[in-house]
Amino acid sequence: MQTQTVPLTGPSPGTTRTLTRHYWGDRDARPKVYLQAGLHADEMPGPLALYHLMTLLDAAEAEGRITGNIVVVPLANPIGLSEWLLHKPVGRRDLEGAQNFNRGYPDLAALAGDALEGQLGPDGAENLRIIRKGFAQALAGITSDTEVDELRLRLIEESFDADHVLDLHCDHHAVMHLYASSAAPGTADLLCRCVGSKLALIEDLSGGNAFDEAHTAPWRALRARFPNHTIPDGCFSTTLEYRGQHDVSDPLAQGDALGLMAFLSGVGAVIGGPAPMHPAPEEAPLAGAVEFIAPMGGIVTWTTVPGDRVTEGQVLGHVTDPTTRLRIAITAPTTGLLFRQELWTSCLKGQGLCHVAGQDPRRQGELLSN
Ligand SMILES: [Zn+2]
Repeated sequence: MQTQTVPLTGPSPGTTRTLTRHYWGDRDARPKVYLQAGLHADEMPGPLALYHLMTLLDAAEAEGRITGNIVVVPLANPIGLSEWLLHKPVGRRDLEGAQNFNRGYPDLAALAGDALEGQLGPDGAENLRIIRKGFAQALAGITSDTEVDELRLRLIEESFDADHVLDLHCDHHAVMHLYASSAAPGTADLLCRCVGSKLALIEDLSGGNAFDEAHTAPWRALRARFPNHTIPDGCFSTTLEYRGQHDVSDPLAQGDALGLMAFLSGVGAVIGGPAPMHPAPEEAPLAGAVEFIAPMGGIVTWTTVPGDRVTEGQVLGHVTDPTTRLRIAITAPTTGLLFRQELWTSCLKGQGLCHVAGQDPRRQGELLSN
C-alpha cells in the first residue's frame, strides 16, 4: 500500500486540512477502481466499511492477489467532518456557502470538448485514451476559488480516469440501494449482487452533476457531440447508499467489506475474492422514486419500515399535532418499494418524509434530493 496526503489550501490564515488517499497495486494497472466514502460527512457506514476493506486489501497484497489499481479515499470530506453546529454534525452542506458537497463537480465534456475536435478516430479504445487525456488536461486547467471547490477538484482529479467509481454514502433510515446510469447494467447488477443492494435506481441525467454523474455523463455528452466516432462508456460510477445513518457497526461493516472484495474480484482488480452472495436487485427509474411531503408539521410515527413493499395510498405512518389533536396519515405516493424514511421524529410542513421506488417515471427535472 502507498499513501498520499494531499494538502488543501486553508480558507483563512493559520488553517489547513489534508485529504488522504491509499493505493494498492500498480498505479498503471487496469482496471482502476476508485472508492471513496464520507463525502456527506455525517454518513459513517461507508468509511467504516472502507476501514475493514483496507485490512482485506493488505492481506490480498501480501498474497500477491492485487491485479488492478485500487484507490481508497476513506474520508473524502475533511471540511465537512470538522463542521458541527449545536452539537450535531452538519454533514451534507458546507457551513460557509451551504453547498451540497455532492453536487457541482466539473463538467468534463464541456471543459474538454473543444480540445477534442479533430482528435478522435474510428477506434473506440484509442478514443477512450484520447478522451481521458483530454479530461486530465481540462482538470489541470481549472482553478478553484473556495476550499469546497478545491476539495471537489482534488477528489475528481484522482477518480476521473477510473474504470469503476464507487462513492459510498448512506441515507436516514433505509435499505441498501444505489444510483447509477444505464451505461453499464451488467456492472450495476454485479455490484448489487456482491454488496447486497436491494434496489438500483437508474437514471442517465439526474441534475446537479453529483460525483457519480460527473464520471458517466461526459461520455454520453461526447457521443452526442461527436456522433461519427465510436466513444465507449469509459467509467461505471455509482452512489451506493449503505443503509441508514445509524447502521454503523463492525459486524455490518466487515460484511460490507467482504461484499466490496467480491466486486473487486468480479471486475478483475483482485484474484480470489468471495463470489457474489446476494440476489439480483429490483431496478427502478429514479424518476419513479416518489416522495411523500408532510402536509403539516408535527410528530412523525411509522407503521412500516424501509424494505416494505407498498401500494399507492397505503398508510405508512402518521404526522400528529397534539396541540390541535389532528393526525394525518402518511400514505404511499406510488406503488413499489418503500426504501427510505426520514431520521427525525418531528417534521416541518413541506418536508419530505419517505420515498417509494415505483416503476412509473412520473417525475421530471432535478431528480435528486437537495
Ligand atoms: Zn450522502
